[in-house]
Amino acid sequence: MTGWTLGSIKARGLTLEGHCQGKDCGFFATFDLDRLIANAGADYRVPEFVPGIECPECGGALKAVLAALPPGDGSKEAGAG
Ligand SMILES: [Zn+2]
Repeated sequence: MTGWTLGSIKARGLTLEGHCQGKDCGFFATFDLDRLIANAGADYRVPEFVPGIECPECGGALKAVLAALPPGDGSKEAGAG
């Protein structure tokens, strides 16, 4: 249990990711907050482990992790090289 609701995560400008707990897997997915809120509601309390979703790589449990959105909201291109 993270103690966070979908609405509070969005209000703080954070994003929600699911990190696989499988050994040597390392898979993670970023969830669409707006879509989750549309489905479950902004008051939905995010559990520690995301129910009903498993890792597509190894079938392991996905642990809910909060992450900051990458800086910059413009159309900046990452084309260094
Ligand atoms: Zn996995």
